[in-house]
Amino acid sequence: MSHKGAAMIVSGRLWRAESSDFAQGWLAVEQGRIAASGWGEAGEPAAISPSGLIAPGFVDVHSHGGAGAAFTEGARAARTVLDAHRRQGTTTMSASLVSADLDEIVAQVEALAPLVASGELAGVHLEGPWISPQRKGAHDLGKLAAPTPAAVDRVLALAPGLVRMVTIAPELDCAEQAIRRLSAAGIVVALGHTAADYACFRSGFDTGASGVTHLFNAMPDLGKRDPGPVLAAWRDPRAWLELVFDGHHVDARLAAFCCEQFPERMVLITDAMAAAGMGDGDYTLGGLPVRVSGGVARLTSDGAIAGSTITLADALANAVANGIPLGTAVRLASANPAAYLGLGDVGRLTAGAKADLVELDESGRVLNPDLARTARS
Ligand SMILES: [Zn+2]
Repeated sequence: MSHKGAAMIVSGRLWRAESSDFAQGWLAVEQGRIAASGWGEAGEPAAISPSGLIAPGFVDVHSHGGAGAAFTEGARAARTVLDAHRRQGTTTMSASLVSADLDEIVAQVEALAPLVASGELAGVHLEGPWISPQRKGAHDLGKLAAPTPAAVDRVLALAPGLVRMVTIAPELDCAEQAIRRLSAAGIVVALGHTAADYACFRSGFDTGASGVTHLFNAMPDLGKRDPGPVLAAWRDPRAWLELVFDGHHVDARLAAFCCEQFPERMVLITDAMAAAGMGDGDYTLGGLPVRVSGGVARLTSDGAIAGSTITLADALANAVANGIPLGTAVRLASANPAAYLGLGDVGRLTAGAKADLVELDESGRVLNPDLARTARS
């Protein structure tokens, strides 16, 4: 098979969605999009044929920052974050904001609106303030609130597509109605930062929630007589399961077990804060002081884990190092998060998708974060 025209041909071992593995194939890239694709050898000379494996660019649905900057700091800072993650193969991100007064959150969201309009950002994720004081993690206790109808009204009044995801603790006052209204408006509702029991968590999915904010973290542990949110999430095929695979948030063996058991629903996230891509030192998260030591970010006040310092490339390599096949890990870092957010043109290597092409070695390390751009320049 061949594809004629002005397209640039990329040939090599391509990630295959159907079987989560790699096979010889080709892509015709035209104006930043995949115009055609096929398996086997290309019928015409390839402009680029890398020796490594070709995967779709990574999709990070939960991240706060990187390179010393955070999404709460406006469009300029957001571009710094995006560039830092893009250099490690993450080509699609949504911007996670932590709990704050609603006026402040609305201002932060509107400051990012130009980047959502331009396609640089896939949208904004409100991780707070509608979360449990008992499971606040690194959020500011004084900023937490219930998702009252008036508060939900304000979020729904923002331009459609701007807020792409919200996190809600399903046990809060007004949560049921909020989940119903937000999900009906096309906003992804993730359950998390919660003290809910099994039944309450389960009812959140019945009401319209479709994901879990960092499974295991900021929620009750799985107990043999009180299995809580973790088992409710495992058992519910409607639930996408976010996981921070950094070896600190969740034991790496437990993280690997989840990836083995639920490859169709696991979503690798970074929950990265400003220190991602930087060294140890002092930072802030949503205005709260954070110290990063040995790559682990903790609030200086109470020692709570305050996001991670990894990129999705690190998460992918950690999964592979813990026994997850590379093709499966690629799914968890690209196709699954794209489906979770409802993004149709990323997380795949077929016609119509963006030509976000990442070259990996066999251990999942990024050799080239943007093959198509390399070929253009
Ligand atoms: Zn977060």
